[in-house]
Amino acid sequence: MHDLLKKDGEMIWHPFTPLLGGDQPVVISSGEGVYLITPDGRKIIDAVSSWWVNLHGHSNPVIAKAITVQALKLEHVIFAGFTHEPAVKLAENLLSILPQNQSRIFFSDDGSTAVEVAVKMAIQFWHNSKKPKKKIIAIDGAYHGDTFGSMSVGERGLFTNPFQPFLFDVEFIKFPSVGLEAEVIEQFASLVKGNDVAAFIYEPLVQGAAGMRIYDAVVLDSLIDIAHRHELLCIADEVFTGFGRTGKLFASEYCSNKPDIIAVSKGITGGAMPLGVTSCSAQVVKAFHSDQMDQTFFHGHSYTANPLACAAANASFDLLMHADCQKKIEWISAQHKTFALQLKKNPGVLNALSLGTILAIELRSGEETNYTNDLRKRIYSFFLSRDILLRPLGNVVYVLPPYVIREDQLKKVYDAILEFLNSL
Ligand code: PMP
Repeated sequence: MHDLLKKDGEMIWHPFTPLLGGDQPVVISSGEGVYLITPDGRKIIDAVSSWWVNLHGHSNPVIAKAITVQALKLEHVIFAGFTHEPAVKLAENLLSILPQNQSRIFFSDDGSTAVEVAVKMAIQFWHNSKKPKKKIIAIDGAYHGDTFGSMSVGERGLFTNPFQPFLFDVEFIKFPSVGLEAEVIEQFASLVKGNDVAAFIYEPLVQGAAGMRIYDAVVLDSLIDIAHRHELLCIADEVFTGFGRTGKLFASEYCSNKPDIIAVSKGITGGAMPLGVTSCSAQVVKAFHSDQMDQTFFHGHSYTANPLACAAANASFDLLMHADCQKKIEWISAQHKTFALQLKKNPGVLNALSLGTILAIELRSGEETNYTNDLRKRIYSFFLSRDILLRPLGNVVYVLPPYVIREDQLKKVYDAILEFLNSL
């Protein structure tokens, strides 16, 4: 193990991690259910679903089998000029659960590329429609990924500072927190009144990376309605919220107005394989319905619609749609709701909210909520020393478990949170 860590330290660059001064990474040799297992047998509860991707537990045998069977049949094939059953089946599966106005599926590799595709699709939609538009609107605090396009439509700050001069201009509206709704709607209405905005991109109902900031569906519904009355495309970034996280299969279901383009990833394969998908409405497709090269969407990645990833996604889809999983989502949502109410009374807690399987606890830290908050390191080590993986966002501790979590396991996480609050 020492040798592994030594080599890792010499050769590997970990994401979102300073190269100096950090803790050594934890070596994981296997996974089972909610557990990440170390070579010496420590079982760590993955209470954040490994960056929000895992739905059905680690090394889920159903998904593992689907990948194995597919690998022995066809591991990959170029997706320009070729197709295969796992991709077609996945498109069919996704379109059966996505909002009804969605009509086509474009595959990519991860959340950032799904967003990148969505933004490019929206821009080219207006180009093809002979009404080129340059403006894009996003929401303060947004996080849409780490590629240049997805960084551009996200909040500017610590993560993006070195790249600031290279990011394209975006108009940001205020975050519609309670009490600000009317102001935000007014700000949005004034930005779009010239009908010159190409797209509005948003994380529906909850901004994950900003600290699990939850906002009301009613205000989002109004924004989408205004957008549609002023000819701009709405892009729902469901990369985090998709596949049951908010209690419904997609957070967009909480609104009656539907987005024109949707980006999904993370939970799509149950957390087993990287895969991104961008879906769009028939109206968007129509602008690309042409045999002209200059109307073609020239975007594609080598691993587009990788059959192994599609097979994992189809297996995950079957598990997700099973009544047992839907019941578990309801059960976790109910547990979170009760626990959030209990936490609100705790003096160490500034606010506690839940939305479906997401529980967010904002600690009274005396500091601004931010990623580099010192409390963050303390929280992380406190829980890890109790064999629980919780990776706070500044002073926001959130619990986002795989749906297979059992009652005793969730109780262990809740009890550790109460213990931490008592230690403050
Ligand atoms: N959009 C949202 C809403 C996200 O939360 C994330 C990742 N946390 C992304 C996009 C980027 O996804 P990925 O990390 O897979 O590129």
